[in-house]
Amino acid sequence: MNRRRVRELIEDIALERMEILFKLGIEAVKHGDYELARRYGELIRRISMRTRVKLPREMKRWVCKYCHIIMVPGFNARVRTRRDGRALRVVTKCLSCGWIHRYQFVVKKGHGEAQGSPGKVEKRESSEQS
Ligand SMILES: [Zn+2]
Repeated sequence: MNRRRVRELIEDIALERMEILFKLGIEAVKHGDYELARRYGELIRRISMRTRVKLPREMKRWVCKYCHIIMVPGFNARVRTRRDGRALRVVTKCLSCGWIHRYQFVVKKGHGEAQGSPGKVEKRESSEQS
């Protein structure tokens, strides 16, 4: 096996594990076990760091950057969206620690597809209106 193949395998396994932990985390939140959900979130981060496999964007959005808990809207996270011209602003708030995550999407013409813009996405602000 060459190195590239090994790397691919590591990425596959890491992604698979992160996905499993993520789903377990969501279940834990739904059962009200937030401590467990945080442990899963920490494990996901650890796998990502150790293997240097980036968390898929869809998943990263739901792992609190501050307390590492898995966030589930309606349970331990609040989500707000606001349309601002062609941009869609999404604000998620971790109800466990109060951290506010911001994302901005630019809505493409023609498609209903949205593209996230990395960069200034996370910021802590407690003065935010609710
Ligand atoms: Zn949090």
